Amino acid sequence: MFKSLIGRSVIVTGGSKGIGGGISRGFGAAGSRVLVVSRNLAEAEAVAEDIRAAGGTASGFAADVSTLDGNRGMVDRAVELYGGLDILCANAGIYPAAMIEDMTVEEFDRVMNTNLRSTFLSTAAAVKAMKARGRGRIIITSSTTGPVTGYPGWAHYGASKAGQLGFMRTAAIELARYGITVNAVIPGAIMTDGLAGLPEEFLGRITAAVPLKRFGKVEEIANGALFLASDEAAYVTGHALSIDGGMTLPEFEMALDESASLT
Ligand code: NAP
Repeated sequence: MFKSLIGRSVIVTGGSKGIGGGISRGFGAAGSRVLVVSRNLAEAEAVAEDIRAAGGTASGFAADVSTLDGNRGMVDRAVELYGGLDILCANAGIYPAAMIEDMTVEEFDRVMNTNLRSTFLSTAAAVKAMKARGRGRIIITSSTTGPVTGYPGWAHYGASKAGQLGFMRTAAIELARYGITVNAVIPGAIMTDGLAGLPEEFLGRITAAVPLKRFGKVEEIANGALFLASDEAAYVTGHALSIDGGMTLPEFEMALDESASLT
């Protein structure tokens, strides 16, 4: 789809599963050279193997993106394997639920460190390698939860996802001088392994609230990331691209009634 992605060196954090798995495979199919990162090496390597089996170039790497060493290690590995780094997809994230009154400091910190501190650390590690190239693309996976909406149990998660967008806006200004753009994708309700096993009734209530009446696919988030990483998006920076089937649009629930009208 985007020829400018052929041969580009890409890191996808959280690339072993779900949305990150879709992003990794998307870049693999576009001809980029992909480093699939997660804490579990075997799972990252399995996605890399799929990409190689389809004729692409990919490798797995184990790193904890909440740590300084993990982020430096993955960037060093991409540079060693592919001669540099062009694109970072800061996608790794966790979303455990806890009500505020029960939430421990450790739970809060774990969510913030995995989702938000990792965004800072992976960006900082990537900048060094991208500066050497004179260009770069950073794509952050945020969420509707936090920047736009809320849900009981996800106060820490929502704070981390809104924080990513705050980080993005200043990063986009700071890094423009090096030819690096910084953007985000905002997934709505996306069908991943974790959701697939949940009761039909629960899943049906979610899709009923989405104007397009279905879950998003990981490939649809990948397509947004591919665009933001391409040469075609050279003039887009500091932008958060919602890919949510219109989930955040209805003024009230009744706006989704087929017969809804004020006349
Ligand atoms: P997922 O299927 O649970 O996958 C999470 C990925 O992140 C795995 O590869 C996991 O591998 C990795 N990961 C977790 N902690 C890590 C750490 N400390 N260091 C390195 N890798 C780590 O999640 P998902 O649903 O695809 O979500 C991916 C991103 O999309 C998240 O940022 C999430 O907030 C966002 N999002 C998802 C949805 C949705 O509907 N699914 C909606 C909005 C936003 P290991 O456990 O092996 O490390």
